[in-house]
Amino acid sequence: MDPNIILKAAIERQEVSAIEALMLMQQEEPGFADIYQVANELNRRTHQGVTSFVHRTHIYYTNVCRASCRHCSLFRKKGDKEAYTLTPDQVVERVQASPVRNDIAVQGALNPDLSVSYLVRLIQTLRDEFPHAHIHAFSPTEVHFAARRARVPAREVLEQLKEAGLDSMPGTGADILNDKVRKKISPDRIRTADWVEIVKSAHRLGIKTTASILVGHVENEIHICEHLEIIRNIQKDTGGIVEFQILPMIPEGAAFGNSRQRISQQQLLKLVAISRIFFGNSVQNIQVPWALFGLPEAIQCLSMGANDLGGTHFQGGAVYTSGPAARYTSPELLEKAILKAQRRPRQRDSVYGDGTKKTVRTRKAALALR
Ligand code: SF4
Repeated sequence: MDPNIILKAAIERQEVSAIEALMLMQQEEPGFADIYQVANELNRRTHQGVTSFVHRTHIYYTNVCRASCRHCSLFRKKGDKEAYTLTPDQVVERVQASPVRNDIAVQGALNPDLSVSYLVRLIQTLRDEFPHAHIHAFSPTEVHFAARRARVPAREVLEQLKEAGLDSMPGTGADILNDKVRKKISPDRIRTADWVEIVKSAHRLGIKTTASILVGHVENEIHICEHLEIIRNIQKDTGGIVEFQILPMIPEGAAFGNSRQRISQQQLLKLVAISRIFFGNSVQNIQVPWALFGLPEAIQCLSMGANDLGGTHFQGGAVYTSGPAARYTSPELLEKAILKAQRRPRQRDSVYGDGTKKTVRTRKAALALR
């Protein structure tokens, strides 16, 4: 099929199939410009020149992990001198020490010493202390691991977490939703069907999630297009995905070793553009995390279909990918970079609501005001 026919259909808001997305992905250089132009136009229609970012606190409650994903450099085995696990009170202390307490993201690793009741207690403790904060916590991988060890359905764990005060979940650990690829890069982690089921269960309980893709390892273009289709099908079913996050693997320090080249910016730009075209009216927000892309590179993606730069705080990312240690930029610097790219900045929360609410009080402060 002529790629121009696919692009014409996309601009007329018709759905692009996975095969058509693959054809676009296999285009050679001269055809890129048209793909970028269509993606940019679809982005403009949806977001009217607004680029968002989230200013929230990230806490990693443990780095002890039973898995050894080949793309991860941050997990530690039990007993390792750098291994750590925080108690729920220590997590609260870290949030209290942070300037941002109205949006809290919590993630960890597959620590066999932590039970479902630890996860629930962690959310309850945060909710008690920060009654009005948005709590965004636990990937499908963590929920699946805890549920399996407790021999209870994942849905039951999600119900308990929601009851304790969980608002939304990161859709990380999706990597590539193809079990052959997953066996190669993360053999001990959740399989595709379980990831999909947990995400759908969360949505049915009213817990919104993000979704993600990890690229730059052993995947090929067919795997990528299959992955996009799985995510879009979830969205058609539940409507609970608020963002599609593109994660380039950073090979340095991971088991893949330094022999592996980083994925090129050109490949990333193409993926950003095709994601915008493929998701059309379904997943509205395409995120390019500045800390993994690099700020100039992420800004370049804004003209290719991306509308979100990720968070001001970025911590290591054991659950995202291997790579940089904690990185931070201020909201002001992100706003400045967005304005320079001739777009309007917007500070959002974890589910794309208004992220500028600054009135969140701790429980102690609220009691003192009574
Ligand atoms: S990516 Fe997550 S599950 Fe895999 S080794 Fe790292 S911390 Fe563990």
